[in-house]
Amino acid sequence: MVNNRAEHLKKRMQILTESFVANLPSRLEELQTLIVASLSSPDDHDTLFSARMSAHKIAGGAGTFGFDDLGNVCRSIENLLDPTETDLNSTESKAALMRYSEELATVPLGSDNELAEVEVLESFSEDAEGSPEVEAATHEHILVLDRTVTDSENLVQQLKHFGLQATCVTTIQEVESYLSNDCLVILCADLDTIRELDTTRALRTLVDAHEHRFSWIAMAEADGFEQRIDAVRRGAVEFFIQPVDVSELMDKIRSVVSLAHPEPIHVLIVDDDIDQVSATAYTLQQAGMITSVASNPAQVFSIMIEAKPELVIMDMYMPECTGIELARLIRQQKSFVGIPIIFLSVESDTARHIDAMSEGGDDFLVKPVRAEYLVGKIRMRANRAREMRFFMEHDSLTGLLNHSHLKQRLSEEIHRASRIGTNLTFAMIDLDHFKSVNDTYGHLTGDRVLKSLSRMLQDRLRKTDTIGRYGGEEFGVILFHATIADAREIMNDLRESFAQVTHHATNGQFRVTFSCGLAAYPELADAKLLGDTADKALYRAKESGRNRVVAG
Ligand code: GH3
Ligand code: MG
Ligand code: MG
Repeated sequence: MVNNRAEHLKKRMQILTESFVANLPSRLEELQTLIVASLSSPDDHDTLFSARMSAHKIAGGAGTFGFDDLGNVCRSIENLLDPTETDLNSTESKAALMRYSEELATVPLGSDNELAEVEVLESFSEDAEGSPEVEAATHEHILVLDRTVTDSENLVQQLKHFGLQATCVTTIQEVESYLSNDCLVILCADLDTIRELDTTRALRTLVDAHEHRFSWIAMAEADGFEQRIDAVRRGAVEFFIQPVDVSELMDKIRSVVSLAHPEPIHVLIVDDDIDQVSATAYTLQQAGMITSVASNPAQVFSIMIEAKPELVIMDMYMPECTGIELARLIRQQKSFVGIPIIFLSVESDTARHIDAMSEGGDDFLVKPVRAEYLVGKIRMRANRAREMRFFMEHDSLTGLLNHSHLKQRLSEEIHRASRIGTNLTFAMIDLDHFKSVNDTYGHLTGDRVLKSLSRMLQDRLRKTDTIGRYGGEEFGVILFHATIADAREIMNDLRESFAQVTHHATNGQFRVTFSCGLAAYPELADAKLLGDTADKALYRAKESGRNRVVAG
């Protein structure tokens, strides 16, 4: 994870640097023209001011991207153009300014910018806010400890069906040895066994010493205050009564894992001023966020569809259109409606702030803004938007995308696949004889089965796949970059794993199977056709005996 983010940051910095370099010739030309004008009218303060600002901006960008020689020349020019520092009527100052102006054309570019990259990466790995995410473990390992080894082995098998790395252990020392690896360790342990083994309460010490690396979940034969308080004192994060419902345990494991790996916030910065963009991007990246940049408002929509940022920061004044106009455009698109927009501008007129907010902006920050304040505001807005979006787009029982958002996503993914020239497969899943599960074991148990399938889909499929609840006991999956043959293999594996999961109810244990229908792009060209074909294939899977995958 650390490497991925460092790589991402490095790539982003490269893109920013390239864009700075690409714009440099025209900006240098503009500066040279302004210098000539300043030399011919050294008392015209407006001209001097424009020339000074031009030098100042280039110096700022050069500093950020590691072009130190260029930065030094521009800063010298900036000083010479400051009437409080220099009298440009003097021959000496004029000569110096001309010399620096000539140097602009010959100053070496490129050799220093690797330096800047290293600096960024170093300060990134130090992590400005000391948040645990940067040091987070690279993967998770589940340990199961139970006095009866068969119970442990059974639970390990069940967890493996969900795609987790799980192992049986028999001593606290063994647990400790796993902590020396670079992974997040979650121990699921029988409380009575722990009471026998952990006479010195060493588990508690391990929990305290490895705050973001180790958690343990107690599983007890019986419920009661005494058991629960004992588990808490030994540092347990959760208490389950045996027999443990594996899908509920999976829920807990997932929440422990997601606390250890918070998803970085993705911010789109819209600003035509490269220096401002680079400074903002740098600040946010240091706080562990991911940034995309649009230096021209016309790029905003394609970036929003492609990179799916969670928040937009924009300048109020850009040559192509104003921030208010752009916010209005963004708000007209239904799919972007929940994305917070923050204006970042030198505008200090509060009436304009109110205008901006009434046009769909969520906040207005006046430049220069302190880094911690900017980061704090963005975190707050983005996290709140994440929660809101989750409720809007997801089904409350399973946490998967709801029907309408799954369909919308299918259209978007087809569009994306066509642009990058890849394939995708849409899979429809329907549980077999689910009505009889409800009839025999009750609706609540039925709900738990739906949750366990959704957990398995989330845990086993790739991040690039999209999973939704299509309806009652039907699910839809978009497998990106997958041909129908790939999809058949993936869905068959899942089908076999799911069929081996044991579900528990008060009146017994049981297993459930599912049937699946597939349809692929580009063989079928639009979302409706894919949906209909997958549905027909699913029907054929049911008709031909259920518990199978059929391609449409
Ligand atoms: P088939 O193999 O042909 O798909 O048989 P089936 O019994 O699964 O199909 P049918 O369409 O007859 O029944 C679907 C059942 O799914 C009926 C309904 O009560 C149940 N169901 C739908 N939504 C939910 C839900 O949210 N929770 C629970 N527990 N059951 C649900
Ligand atoms: Mg069914
Ligand atoms: Mg059905």
